[in-house]
Amino acid sequence: MILVTGGAGYIGSHTLVELINQSESVVVIDNLQNSTELALEKVKEITGKDLTFYQGDIGDAQLLKQIFEKHPIKSVIHFAASKSVNESVSQPLAYYRNNISATVTLLECMAQFNIKNIIYSSSAAVYGDPVYTPMDEAHPIGPITPYGKTKYFGEQILADLAVSDSQWNIVMLRYFNPIGAHHSGLIGEDPLGEPRNLLPYLTQVAIGKRKVLSIFGQDYNTIDGTPVRDYIHVVDLAKGHVQALNLIQKQCGLKVLNLGTGKPTSVLELVSRFEAVTGQKLPYQMMPRREGDAECCYAAPDAALKEMSWKTELSLDNMLEDAWHWQSKNPNGYN
Ligand code: NAD
Ligand code: UDP
Repeated sequence: MILVTGGAGYIGSHTLVELINQSESVVVIDNLQNSTELALEKVKEITGKDLTFYQGDIGDAQLLKQIFEKHPIKSVIHFAASKSVNESVSQPLAYYRNNISATVTLLECMAQFNIKNIIYSSSAAVYGDPVYTPMDEAHPIGPITPYGKTKYFGEQILADLAVSDSQWNIVMLRYFNPIGAHHSGLIGEDPLGEPRNLLPYLTQVAIGKRKVLSIFGQDYNTIDGTPVRDYIHVVDLAKGHVQALNLIQKQCGLKVLNLGTGKPTSVLELVSRFEAVTGQKLPYQMMPRREGDAECCYAAPDAALKEMSWKTELSLDNMLEDAWHWQSKNPNGYN
């Protein structure tokens, strides 16, 4: 049985589907600070299976103990965190509290119950400004924002834990840019308020909820002047967690792995593929660079292939089709 923290969120809900499809039993804990229980209802609808849900905070040691006493949890997949880069700059303490302190509480409770298998959601944000591309796991570390630092400190805490006790099996996954949605159109990304990320903003423009997409910067040293990223289908990302669980069964110790496609895509390339795939004309305007944006960031995903036989299967067109299917089927997200 697997405990999934933050399972009602964007990546968590997609991972639940893949876990349940592999016949794993799952227990979810989520405080719903950035999600809704409806996502879990949709997961049940997609899979035709039930799941156990606790609405609560991973910083609540009493609740965690109740869960570990009641369910035979073998491994934890730890998604629960606050993830807004902007917000982390204005509210660093809230980010250190939620992403670091609550993670320590979770790890203490796991150790107490002798549960020593964990998959941790890290991020390409730990690398900071790219020094070379594609970026492998040995790329220099240098997170720029409090959010990126919390992800990196989380990695460091786990690495120290692995040194202190060799029974721990820890897979830290550094995600690149997850986009898209489950093919059913029943679950997807549902940001609160004005989206900051490219894809939700773009699909909200396409559906008419927002007037125009601003493209931040056209003077980068890239194929067409706009910044380059490694967009990965959220379903491929979710499947990476199933593979990481298999890796943990082999008593893998500590591993850190990139999850990306290894394929660079510029903002203008993505916009043009979106128009081609969906037939939607997308109004956009060129704007100055957004502060803090890297020029070009994409993964070397070879280690994940070697260590856990994982590679992406879905194309950029699949990502855009599925993101548009979710947005057009649910113009107001889960509401
Ligand atoms: P999300 O906000 O959709 O999901 C996170 C979930 O955790 C939410 O349902 C939220 O309510 C819950 N949560 C937050 N704090 C909690 C707490 N203290 N106790 C219980 N539940 C709590 O985010 P996501 O996009 O699904 O991201 C999942 C993980 O992946 C996060 O750790 C994030 O930092 C990491 N990540 C995300 C991206 C991305 O672009 N989406 C990229 C790299 C890494
Ligand atoms: N971007 C953009 N307009 C937007 C949002 C994002 O041009 O409204 C660009 C942004 O400059 C970056 C890319 O899209 O180059 C991906 O941005 P996102 O915030 O989704 O991811 P991240 O910056 O974290 O890689």
